[in-house]
Amino acid sequence: MAVSTSRGAPRLEISLDKIEENARAVVEMCGRRGIEVAGVTKVTCGHPEVARAMLRGGVRWIADSRLANLGRLRDADISCETILLRAPMLDEAADAVRLADMSLISSMETARALGEAARARGAEHRVILMVDVGDLREGVLPDAALDTAARIARVEGVRLYGIGTNVACYGGVVPTYENMSVLLRLRDRIRNDLGVDLEVISGGNSSALPLVAAGQVPQGINQLRIGESMLLGRDVTYRRPLPGMHLDAFVLAAEAIEVARKPSVPQGEIGQDAFGKVRTFRDRGIRRRAILACGRQDIDPEGLRPLESGIEVLGASSDHLILDVEDSDREIRVGDEVRFTMSYGCLLAAMTSPYVHKVVV
Ligand SMILES: *Cc1c(COP(=O)(O)O)cnc(C)c1O
Repeated sequence: MAVSTSRGAPRLEISLDKIEENARAVVEMCGRRGIEVAGVTKVTCGHPEVARAMLRGGVRWIADSRLANLGRLRDADISCETILLRAPMLDEAADAVRLADMSLISSMETARALGEAARARGAEHRVILMVDVGDLREGVLPDAALDTAARIARVEGVRLYGIGTNVACYGGVVPTYENMSVLLRLRDRIRNDLGVDLEVISGGNSSALPLVAAGQVPQGINQLRIGESMLLGRDVTYRRPLPGMHLDAFVLAAEAIEVARKPSVPQGEIGQDAFGKVRTFRDRGIRRRAILACGRQDIDPEGLRPLESGIEVLGASSDHLILDVEDSDREIRVGDEVRFTMSYGCLLAAMTSPYVHKVVV
């Protein structure tokens, strides 16, 4: 960017060693159950160094939901097989077959567009048919899955390579032995009725890891696509820390531009804030507050966890992050930095914001 501050704040510090260690822990846990891992880079916008750290940790594939991110990885010479996680738009089919080795899809239109694009390249594109076992995001309903698989198998230029499912994203449905078993019954019917032996049975995302740890993933699920748990070290159903994983592979640092003692309740008639919300305030008297130079354009204030005790995030507007620092152990002054770990949603914002400097450590 044209403007750069001396220390480059706000700054997202990315620890590649921690990501690699987290990846290794996930890969080893899954490997003991016969499951191979795709490392999902989408929350980092396809950051090549993050992908390399995942690969050093043992993931077999790199997966991302956006073609722009897969293009970025390809430009950085990431040479493993790649998976496009979100079905391409129809006019993206040519880029999809160029940039991804396989795609997760759930519509015949997509299969036909990919087939046509692959034939134009004289190649074949592998597809994984997504089946919706209840979360109501992508996927054909189980009743329609065999029929759709049969029709995809007849499309020239694509190869029906696997089936998969995704839960815990929209509906918040929790993965279970039963809902994963839907895939295995479908696999058997595809083998018996269509004579197609599928290579990949893709059981889900980070939300499946507690089942893996408990030994409750049905035998036959052989792939998981893992992003959040590998990057932030948490189970994603209850956001509990996973044993032995780093929670601070990503740390955000932002700089104080005002520190002052002020009332804890706004003065004057209260209407909507900058984002259309009417807020309520608890009167805690006069408190020491710090304003940091970052905001909703860079972070989600609810997702920030200060690394020091005695600091509380009060809220943020587009460009100002407001903290209560009354009980902080050190006296925070203008020019000081405050550091945080963050939620998935906050990391997504920080990685996507061009105003946040990404520093690999
Ligand atoms: C984002 C995504 C994943 C990874 O999800 P995490 O919760 O980050 O592990 C896996 N599969 C699909 C289809 C996705 O969109």
